[in-house]
Amino acid sequence: MPIITRSAAAVEGEDWQQILAQAFRRPQELLEYLNLPLSEMPERLQACREFSMLVPRTYAALMQSGDAADPLLLQVLPQATENEHKPGYITDPLAEKDTNIQPGIIHKYRGRVLLLATSGCAVNCRYCFRRHFAYGENRIGRKQWAEALSYVAADTSISEVILSGGDPLLLQDDALQELVMLTEAIPHVRRLRIHSRLPVVIPQRLTPALQSLLSNSRLQVSMVLHINHPTELSDALRQPLQALRQNGITLLNQAVLLRKVNDNLGILSDLSERLFEFGVLPYYLHLLDPVRGAHHFDLSEQEAVLLYRQLLAELPGYLVPRLVREEAGKANKSPINLDR
Ligand code: SF4
Repeated sequence: MPIITRSAAAVEGEDWQQILAQAFRRPQELLEYLNLPLSEMPERLQACREFSMLVPRTYAALMQSGDAADPLLLQVLPQATENEHKPGYITDPLAEKDTNIQPGIIHKYRGRVLLLATSGCAVNCRYCFRRHFAYGENRIGRKQWAEALSYVAADTSISEVILSGGDPLLLQDDALQELVMLTEAIPHVRRLRIHSRLPVVIPQRLTPALQSLLSNSRLQVSMVLHINHPTELSDALRQPLQALRQNGITLLNQAVLLRKVNDNLGILSDLSERLFEFGVLPYYLHLLDPVRGAHHFDLSEQEAVLLYRQLLAELPGYLVPRLVREEAGKANKSPINLDR
C-alpha cells in the first residue's frame, strides 16, 4: 500500500508538541479528512465517552484516503462495537491493580519494575489494555518521582526500570533527563527500558536532544516500540531510528495481533522484514488482552497458532517475534503452546 504524505508536508518543520496539539480528537474530523462517510456518529461519540479519540495528523497521513478498512484507521477510530460489553472482556484484564503497589509503580516480574511516567499517550489505540486504567490514582509528577524510585532503591533485586505510561516520551526532554538521572543514581539498576508508541505516530519526537540524552546515560538503554503494521514504519522514522541504534540504543518491537489489522501472513511477514530494515528486532507478538470494548479485535488462540506456524515457516528465526499472552499473576509472559 502506498504511503501517503499529503499532510505530512503540512506539519513538516513543526515540533512534536505542535503536531500533538493539532491531533484529531473528534471522529467527524478524521472521517472528513479521509473522505469517508460520517456513519455511526452517535455510537462513535458514545465510544469516545468511555475512551477518548486521539490521532496525530502525522499518523493519519499514513492512512489511505477513502478506505474505511484501512488497518491504521481501524486501530484508532472509535467503533460502535466498542459499546457492546462482551462477557470475559473486562476493565482490568491483567489485574494490574494488584501489582500497582504504590502510585506510579507496577511491580509484576522479578528484577524489573514499571514506572508510570505519564498518564497520557500521543495516540489512543482502541484495543489498549489500559483504556480503563486508574491513571487518576497514578498521576505522579516530577515531585513524586524520587518517592516512587525509593521503592526501587530499597529492592536490590531490581536491575531494570521500565518507563511506561501512558507514553513516557510525552515528557519534555528536561523532565525525562531528570528521571533518567534519578534512576542512574540507584547503583543496582543497570538497565533502562522505554516503552513507547509516540515515535511511530509522531517521528519528530526522536529529536537529536533525546538521542543524546539516552546515549549519554550510564545505563544500558533499550527502546521497545509498538508497531503493528508495516505501513506504520514511515520513511520519517527511518533516520531517527538509525541514529538511536548508532548511539547504542537497542531497538525492539512488540506488536499486538489484531483482527482485520494484521491477522495475515503477508502483513506479519512484511512487518518483520521492514522492522529489521529499520534496525528494530521483532520481540513480541501479543495476543489481545481481553479488555472491555476491544473484543472485535480478538483472534482465537487456534487462529493465532495457525498463523504463527506459517510465519515460522516463512521467515528466519530471528525475524519471528515470540507469540505470547500476558496473564494476571504469572511470573512472566506466557508463551503460546504451538502443539495444538
Ligand atoms: S500508545 Fe500504548 S498505552 Fe497508549 S493507548 Fe496505545 S497501546 Fe495504550
